[in-house]
Amino acid sequence: MKILVVEDEAQLADALTEILKRNKYIVDTAYNGIDGCDSALTGVYDCIVLDVMLPGMNGLEILRNIRAEKLSTPVLLLTARSEVEDKINGLDCGADDYLTKPFVTGELLARIRALTRRKGEIFDESKLTFNGLELNKNSNSVIYNGNDVKLSLKEYQIMELLMANPRQILPKERIIEKIWGFESDVEYNNIEVYISFLRKKLSSIGTDTQIRTARGIGYSLE
Ligand code: CA
Repeated sequence: MKILVVEDEAQLADALTEILKRNKYIVDTAYNGIDGCDSALTGVYDCIVLDVMLPGMNGLEILRNIRAEKLSTPVLLLTARSEVEDKINGLDCGADDYLTKPFVTGELLARIRALTRRKGEIFDESKLTFNGLELNKNSNSVIYNGNDVKLSLKEYQIMELLMANPRQILPKERIIEKIWGFESDVEYNNIEVYISFLRKKLSSIGTDTQIRTARGIGYSLE
């Protein structure tokens, strides 16, 4: 899952980024309103953690821009204790939730999990399942029928994307955007390498779930 953090207090921004990465999110960080807005409008994020008071463009303006572009990305606003007005305005502008600074990490993570949950899903944050196959976040492994195999971080992130969107063709460009970011110079064949590792690991645990190649387009979990 990919998260954008927009926060101008560098120390807080970096701490948040670190915590989220440790919790296996893919994170981009923007330290001012203009960069934050540009990134937010790409639409590739699963959640945006947005500070209200920002240089360049404030969080509420960014939020208005996001919603004006009809992007439904969940937005968690960070507000200072004194900014009661901002909370009300924020919710009116289309924020999904807000958190008052200072906050504890556990609460931030819980709110992000709540915002990124698929609607109606009975949710177990530690795993994703498809066709008897389980992707376990705590053990970094895929499990089938009692057999399990460990994944590397990139393998885990690709598998998470596939399992969150089963039976859908995910274009290679989309996978690169989500996992490596726009400015990465990852060649497409690197993805092929990771996919081939994943295929070997899936077949080693005896599942009939497969990563199919949609020639010239991308991959799907079937
Ligand atoms: Ca600020």
